[in-house]
Amino acid sequence: MAATIIDGKAFAAEVRGKVAEHVARLKDDHGITPGLAVVLVGADPASQVYVRSKGKQTVEVGMASFEHRLAEDTAEDELLGLIDHLNADPEVHGILVQLPLPGHLNEDLVINAIDPAKDVDGFHISNVGLLGTGQKSMVPCTPLGCLMMLRHHHGSLSGMDAVVVGRSNIVGKPMAQLLLGDSCTVTIAHSRTRDLPGVVRRADIVVAAVGRPEMVPGDWIKPGATVIDVGINRIDAPEKGTNEDGSVKTRLVGDCHYASCAEVAGAITPVPGGVGPMTIACLLANTVTACCRANGLPEPEGLTA
Ligand code: NDP
Repeated sequence: MAATIIDGKAFAAEVRGKVAEHVARLKDDHGITPGLAVVLVGADPASQVYVRSKGKQTVEVGMASFEHRLAEDTAEDELLGLIDHLNADPEVHGILVQLPLPGHLNEDLVINAIDPAKDVDGFHISNVGLLGTGQKSMVPCTPLGCLMMLRHHHGSLSGMDAVVVGRSNIVGKPMAQLLLGDSCTVTIAHSRTRDLPGVVRRADIVVAAVGRPEMVPGDWIKPGATVIDVGINRIDAPEKGTNEDGSVKTRLVGDCHYASCAEVAGAITPVPGGVGPMTIACLLANTVTACCRANGLPEPEGLTA
């Protein structure tokens, strides 16, 4: 039987709707407008697209968007000064520094300069520690989006075998913590894992966050398992023809081979239209959560881990 497609685009729209409702209530009942500041250093084209999209969606849900674009050669002190300023600004409830930063800037230093309460990316070492010890934290957006989709699809995840392929700090490790928090039995696989196909085949839930196009084929998937494909990879698509400059057109694929996985899985997220849209929706959710916490107000239900 063909897998159920977990429609991240539709679910992200639902999450944004809930965020917008909560933002309206904060404005009407308390006169508070949640604000998100995004800092972009340099002119990386992909980062510019993300920042534009974040700003647009922030405004669409009724929040205030503050964009800070700094030159590629910005000195570390200047960037840290801006973060200090944003930390102290009562109109800013969330701060996001777009990664990657230019090579001369120390990413860890910069991220750890953000007030943890405003760290809506959830990368500050305090938030990493809070998540790891099961305490209230700001949760990284991509794994939070995956968790929300899994809960929405399954209800309880308790007792399920979950395999996370990838151990990065921004996806794999926090994803594993979240699944553990929901009482899954969690395995983290990586490039040194022995018998990766055998490990993945045991899983009721597979989260692939590897960055290798279509690496996970359908015959690694246990029949009926749920597959969450975090990967976003651009590959040549000669079947689509060529661009005006003669270069081959491209298309996006995930870390899972969609067609073969969809034949075996019980449910699967597509790429594009799966995890991707949920990431920005969760950034907005984290901002509204941060705003409520900053003002001692109840947090919106269903928008946190
Ligand atoms: P990283 O490169 O930081 O981490 C990749 C992980 O995959 C590493 O832990 C690595 O293992 C593991 N890995 C690499 N090759 C293999 C292999 N052959 N077998 C098993 N494991 C392997 O990537 P990210 O976590 O940042 O991102 C992963 C993917 O998710 C990328 O495609 C990225 O574009 C996408 N992404 C999507 C987002 C979204 O919004 N949808 C947001 C963030 C990322 P090791 O540690 O041993 O090297």
